[in-house]
Amino acid sequence: MPISGSEIVKMLPGRKPCKECGFPTCFAFAMKLASGGTTVDKCPYLSEEVKARLVDLLAPPIKLVTIGAGENAVKVGNEEVIYRHEKTFVHSPGIALLISDREDDAKIEEKIKKIQELQFPWVSVNLKADLLAPYYGSGNKNRFLALVKKIYDSTNLGMVLISEDMDALFAARDICADRHPLLYPITKENVDEAILKIKANLTPVGLRGDSIEELVPLTTKLKDSGIEELVLNPGSKNLLEAIRDQTFIRRAALKHGFRPLGYPTIAFPCFMSQDGLKEILLASAYIPKWAGIIVLSDFDQYSLLPLLVQRLNIYTDPRFPMAVEEKYYEVGEPDEYSPVLVTSNWALTYFLVSSAVEATKIPAYVCVKDAEGLGVLSAWAAGKFSGDSIGTFIKKCGVADKVKHRKLVIPGKVARIKGELEDALNLEWEIIVGPKETTGIGAFLPGFAKQLKG
Ligand code: SF4
Repeated sequence: MPISGSEIVKMLPGRKPCKECGFPTCFAFAMKLASGGTTVDKCPYLSEEVKARLVDLLAPPIKLVTIGAGENAVKVGNEEVIYRHEKTFVHSPGIALLISDREDDAKIEEKIKKIQELQFPWVSVNLKADLLAPYYGSGNKNRFLALVKKIYDSTNLGMVLISEDMDALFAARDICADRHPLLYPITKENVDEAILKIKANLTPVGLRGDSIEELVPLTTKLKDSGIEELVLNPGSKNLLEAIRDQTFIRRAALKHGFRPLGYPTIAFPCFMSQDGLKEILLASAYIPKWAGIIVLSDFDQYSLLPLLVQRLNIYTDPRFPMAVEEKYYEVGEPDEYSPVLVTSNWALTYFLVSSAVEATKIPAYVCVKDAEGLGVLSAWAAGKFSGDSIGTFIKKCGVADKVKHRKLVIPGKVARIKGELEDALNLEWEIIVGPKETTGIGAFLPGFAKQLKG
């Protein structure tokens, strides 16, 4: 449970407002601290003990854990709400592909290739699986280490290293420690042996218990040892247990501020069902039910894409429509006689327009005006796609330097802004009313482009 400003102020020194923190009073500083707008180190009069306590109290109720490095890093946790409609979910679950060292070399190659190739451009994002999970099942340590090395050398992906054998697990960690792999499983049986080895080269750790209760002393022990990037597996064996356990952990962390369960979770549909379809269905249940990482034994485009789209839908902030950046976009290789069209920056609008233009094979400039992610008509109704504002955008976006003509195509649905836009552009541009729907672009654009060339 987040601490309030009035609770924080009781812990502050209460000196005469010295303002050294940059705020007029201690109370103002406390309020800002509670909302995350400043940091404890700004007040020079806090004792180390109070500072540490405040840092702990202000920490997110679910710890942020990063697996992988660079642009392929997967961040999980740091969530603030139980239900998506309360605010938003922040970090979508990482989807991992299990590769067992018992699989033959051809299958291993196929899986490594598959996770890199199965990517789906979707509106303004690229949907893909995120992690590889090498699994030590062969009993041959060298084979497992060779698998980890192969993944390390041939991809930039983060890894979930899975081995019951501690020697193999830490030897694998040492191969790819700079990729910040997750080490799994740490259990009540091996935790004491593991702590020193984990600390020798800190990376995230996955804990496995036979129950949620079993996880609590484990997280406490590791946190006390300074190991805080933890991911929890409560040992759920079926769908019912999975939903029960995930719900319990989430509520304990967020509603009750129970720190020992304030970590993201990891789920293993790959070990819960032998049936490929059931495995994917389990994964689809874990996506809205807060799993941080979901490990699958295999997938193809038909099973992976629905999961990725489901994940996108659940983890897209409902308060903000998907939008693209305001600027002009080149479709094909336009020249100085190419058409110039303007539209709003709702991602779907932009992709429909640019796809329709692309389909005509006529290179063009598509100018995308920031309308706070609204479609054309909604944006116009909200005053965000007016002639004045489009005029200002066209003047500053630089498209005028790209073309010799001065003809600008506007969506047919906002034909009424024609005069206002002409005025805003000082009558230097002729405003052409284009089709009402993007489906009309195919019929409209070729003839219009011909006029411009002629
Ligand atoms: S620096 Fe510390 S003591 Fe001074 S006003 Fe800010 S919070 Fe209060």
